[in-house]
Amino acid sequence: MDRRSLIADERGTLHKEAETRVALVYPSPYRAAMSSLGYQQIYRVLHGMPGVAADRAMLDVPKTLEEDMPISSYPLLAYSVAYELELAGVVETLDRAGIPALASERDDRHPLVIAGGPLTFSNPAPMAPFFDVIVMGEGEEVIIELMNAARDAGFLRDRLWTSLVGRPGFYLPHLHGEKVPPVAAADDALLPARSVIQTPNTELSNMFMTEAARGCSRGCTYCVMRRSTNGGMRIVPRESIIAGIPEYAHKVGLVGAAVTDHPDIVAVVRDIVDGGRSVGISSLRADKLTDELVRLLAKGGYRTLTVAGDGASERMRRVIERSTKAEHLIHSAQLAATHRLHTLKVYMMLGVPSETDADVDELVQLSRELAAIHPRVAYGLAPFVAKRNTPLDGTPFAGIDVVEHRLVRLRAGLKAAGLGGKVEVRPTSARWAWVEYMLAQGEMSAGLAVMDAHRAGGTFAAYKKAFIARGVVPTGPRARVPSSQELIALKRQRLATLAT
Ligand code: SF4
Repeated sequence: MDRRSLIADERGTLHKEAETRVALVYPSPYRAAMSSLGYQQIYRVLHGMPGVAADRAMLDVPKTLEEDMPISSYPLLAYSVAYELELAGVVETLDRAGIPALASERDDRHPLVIAGGPLTFSNPAPMAPFFDVIVMGEGEEVIIELMNAARDAGFLRDRLWTSLVGRPGFYLPHLHGEKVPPVAAADDALLPARSVIQTPNTELSNMFMTEAARGCSRGCTYCVMRRSTNGGMRIVPRESIIAGIPEYAHKVGLVGAAVTDHPDIVAVVRDIVDGGRSVGISSLRADKLTDELVRLLAKGGYRTLTVAGDGASERMRRVIERSTKAEHLIHSAQLAATHRLHTLKVYMMLGVPSETDADVDELVQLSRELAAIHPRVAYGLAPFVAKRNTPLDGTPFAGIDVVEHRLVRLRAGLKAAGLGGKVEVRPTSARWAWVEYMLAQGEMSAGLAVMDAHRAGGTFAAYKKAFIARGVVPTGPRARVPSSQELIALKRQRLATLAT
C-alpha cells in the first residue's frame, strides 16, 4: 500500500508543527511496526515533548508517513529494534537512505542514529556498530532525556556523547565497547502504554492495545522478562486499564509478558466484554485459565486458545523452570472444547538443553490426550535459542540437524498415532534460529556479519559465510565450539588477513 492509503486508513495519527522533527524508524514492515505497543508508546512520548514531533518510517515505507520526507533529511533517526534478525532491516533502511550504516563512518553531515527496543533487554552488542547511542530498556523517560540532550548539543554527536557520559540508561558503543550497561526502568506512574494509532493494516486489525502489566513475576530460565528484570511484574490497576479505553475502540488487546497473572484479570476482561467489545490477550498462561475466563474470552471473540508449554515433556519443562504442566495443557483443551473455541494452539520449543528423542515421544503421547479432548490442536514450534541476561545464557544451540530430526520424529510419531490430520505442526526455521542464536550470543562482530550477509543477498548461506569471515564465535560460560569446517575456514581467513 502507498503512504496516502496507509495514512487514510489510520485513526489517531499525530500531526504537529514543531521546531524539531525526528524520524521514528521501524526496521520491519508497517504491519509489524503498528502492532508494536512499544513503538507506538515512543511515538506518543516524543509528540508529547514541547517543540518535538516524530514522523514514522518503516522497512517498506522509506519516506516518513506524516511528512513524506526521506529519513536522511532528519537530524535524528530513532530506531526500535525488537529482535536479532531485524538488524538486516537497520542496514537496509540506512543503505537505502544513503546514510553510512556504520556509526564509525558517519560524521556531522549525517543524522544522529539512535536505537532502543526489546532487543536491548537481551544482547544489544551486535546493534552497536550501527548506532551512536542505544537507549537501554524501558524508554519512556530516557528518550526524553536523550532528545533534550541532543537538542542542546545541536545534534552534534561529540557534544551529545559528552553530555551523556556516565548517565544511566545510555549505551555509548564507541565508549563502552562490549560492556553493555544495565537496562532502565520507567516510573510506574508512566504505565500503561496504550495505542495511539489504530489501523486495519496490521495482524491485529484495528485493535486498541493497552498494557495490563509490565514484566513478569515468574522465573523461566530462558526468558529475559523473568522476575529479575526491572523488579518483576508491575500491575496496572483495573480502573486505569478500563478508563483508558476510548469509546470508539471495538477491539481491545491486553498486552504484557504475563497478562493472566494480573490479579483482576477476570474482572478486567468482563468489563471489556460486557461493554460490547471484543478482547485479545497477548499471553495466556495455561495454569491461570478458568472456566469463567475462557467463557468471557469466547464471548469476546476468541476463536483460538493459545497457551505455551515450551518444554516438550514434563522433564524439559522442569529444566527450563516453566511452571506449566501437562495437566494444565489438558485442562486448556477441556476449556477450549467446552467453550467451542475452534483451535487449541500450544507453543513449544525444540532443542532445549538435555532434550532427547524420548522428550519428543512424550509430546506425541500428550498430543493423543489433547486430540481426544479437542478436535483441532496446533503446535507452534520454535527452536530454543539461549539469550543473554538469562540463567541459560551461553547454552549451545542444539544444532540445525538435531532440531530438524526432532521435528521429523514428532511428525512421524503423530502420523503413527493417527493424529496426522488432527494435530498440526507449525515450525519456525531451524536455520534462521541458528542465525538468531549467533546474534543473541554474539558481540559487535556479529552485527558486522549481518551487514555483510544482508548486502550479499541475505540468504542463509550468506549469513553462514559472513559469520565465519568475521570470526563470530559466540561467547559465554558454555560457548558452542565451532565445527571443524568452520575452524578451518577461520584459520584460512586469519592467514589471509596476515598475508595482506
Ligand atoms: S516465559 Fe513467560 S511466564 Fe516465563 S518468565 Fe517469561 S514472561 Fe514470565
